[in-house]
Amino acid sequence: MLRPSLLLALIGLAAPALAQTAPAPMLPSAADGLMVQALDPTVPPCQDFYLHACNGWLKANPIPSDQSRWGVTDVLIDQNRQKLRAILEKAAAAPTPETRRIGDYWTACLDEAGIEAKGLAPLQPELDRIDALTDKAGLATLVAHLHVIGTDVLFVFDSDQDFRDATQIIAEADQGGLGLPERKYYFDTGKDADDTRAAYVAHLSRLFALAGTPEPDAAASAVMAIETRLAKASLTDVQRRDPAAIYHKLPVGELDKLTPVFAWAAYLHEVGVPPVDALNIAVPGFFEGLQATLADTPLDTIKLYLRVHLLQHAADMLPRRFVEEDFDFYGKTLAGAKELKPRWKRCVSFTDAALGEDLGKIYVQDAFGPDAKASISALVKHLREAYAADIKSLPWMGKETQAKAEIKLQAMVEKIGYPEKWRDYSKLEIKPDDALGNLLRADAFEGARQLAKIGKPVDKGEWEMTPPTVNAYYDDQKNDINFPAGILQPPFFDAHWDDAINYGSIGATIGHEMTHGFDDQGRQFDAQGNLKNWWSKEDTKQFKARASCIVAEYGGFTVADHVKLDGSLTLGENTADNGGTRLAYLALQQALAGKPVTEIDGYTPEQRFFLAYAQSWCENQTPQAAKLQAKSDPHSTAAFRVNGVVANMPEFSKAFQCAAGAPMAPKKSCRVW
Ligand SMILES: [Zn+2]
Repeated sequence: MLRPSLLLALIGLAAPALAQTAPAPMLPSAADGLMVQALDPTVPPCQDFYLHACNGWLKANPIPSDQSRWGVTDVLIDQNRQKLRAILEKAAAAPTPETRRIGDYWTACLDEAGIEAKGLAPLQPELDRIDALTDKAGLATLVAHLHVIGTDVLFVFDSDQDFRDATQIIAEADQGGLGLPERKYYFDTGKDADDTRAAYVAHLSRLFALAGTPEPDAAASAVMAIETRLAKASLTDVQRRDPAAIYHKLPVGELDKLTPVFAWAAYLHEVGVPPVDALNIAVPGFFEGLQATLADTPLDTIKLYLRVHLLQHAADMLPRRFVEEDFDFYGKTLAGAKELKPRWKRCVSFTDAALGEDLGKIYVQDAFGPDAKASISALVKHLREAYAADIKSLPWMGKETQAKAEIKLQAMVEKIGYPEKWRDYSKLEIKPDDALGNLLRADAFEGARQLAKIGKPVDKGEWEMTPPTVNAYYDDQKNDINFPAGILQPPFFDAHWDDAINYGSIGATIGHEMTHGFDDQGRQFDAQGNLKNWWSKEDTKQFKARASCIVAEYGGFTVADHVKLDGSLTLGENTADNGGTRLAYLALQQALAGKPVTEIDGYTPEQRFFLAYAQSWCENQTPQAAKLQAKSDPHSTAAFRVNGVVANMPEFSKAFQCAAGAPMAPKKSCRVW
């Protein structure tokens, strides 16, 4: 399981970018990491620390019309995008053997006139393939082909480390096939939920109509009925937080017992999986539900479902009417963006998704040097020392569990910047005049790469994010923390800033990723990444009591229009935010020990630490995006990533001299790590 520290990418959402006319965005300067002009002195820090630290920023940086959110992170993402654009333009104009593929992908992607002129023709062979299906016996082979070209229909098939033996890569069949972001979107009650479903069905109908499908309204309703049945058989995101709930290693033959209507042998052959005896059937109940759905649904209706998901998947590289339809639902209705972002911005993201390490290799040549790597390594070392000391001092954890936690901490591997060995894309064919073909071939290349891992040793040097990505993650089974080059720059880090700022910003992120190894999911995996209990009964009880305090605290936060955060969904991220910020604070204390206290901009190092933490989260969000995040993302929204954490830290109250009982210094607070 992979745990990013920032918001997850959601299907079809407008990625951050800056409107042409926007004023220069506010970011920390090279001289000082604190954005003094972002502060709002009229909001007392003990009242609402997020607003105190960010209100000036929020007012000066409205959401550009092609965005659904706009925060300091998005400004950095936008700057990175500009750098990537320059690389791609150069690659297209003057390709070298190293840059030809990214240049051709970029050229094809930008060729809107060419895409327009071809219409649906490039997708026609795939649509014809669906039309040609004449009986359910042939469904498995067709679904396998759709999976190969990246279309998520009916279920997900992939490879993963075996939960019980992290040295092995096994095949995995999991729930999937939905067009809405999460199971609850199909069953929530109330006007908002009804409206969203109606808008989704209308979107499917228009998509059908654009592709010339007869009776589009009826087709859309039929697809919604299939998805609702698949959703019903699916686990919720909260249920899926329990690793045991999504791990059922069973003989391959079990698939035939669960879903006899589906020809699994034909599927496995066509999808290209090496011969296997057993696999993880993550959610067996889902495959029973799939059986009932496929058995009762007429073949023509199943074909409509496959057709519309293929159109959805291909939309980005189809004529503009498809792109706009896709944006209208996923960008506008679900996330609240007002307009589609320019083609070039989308093409930077698509090239990064298809050829991320070809692009990243060039990106890091001037964006990331050995000095930055050494500075971050030193920070990681100090955070690790702080965590070791923290574990030893925990009053609630027994000595035996403490010793095992320490072993896991020391075994945690850090990866910084970019991979040591670059991915080889030489077998992936990219053409300068075939945008859709490039998308589908890149998906097939990646799918084959994932399945080829089955039965082979785990490649511990592999990265799950590309180098320019502004994010970080912890991997439970590799027990490693990963920081792509994209995040190791202002506003998160600058070697020239004082310690207080760097520890408050990137330091807290490093601590966040480390703490994931010990949150409600991570603590269930041992130092080698195996799902294995290493906790005493009493310590487990103590952990759960402390975690439930966090669940209740964050479950009380309202994001927009009476929609609250889900304390259980966000438990792991909130635990990591709280633990990570505390660890960074402890590490800063070590760094400051024995040095004279120097105030900068009138703030003590401790105050600057908390201000830097808060300012790394300054973000405007549309109400739609806030609701979408609360319903489907494990990360709390920005204000609560700040206020939820500082309210739990007596160190914060001390730094800002908050009166006991003030909103940011409540009498009852939570602490796990
Ligand atoms: Zn995280």
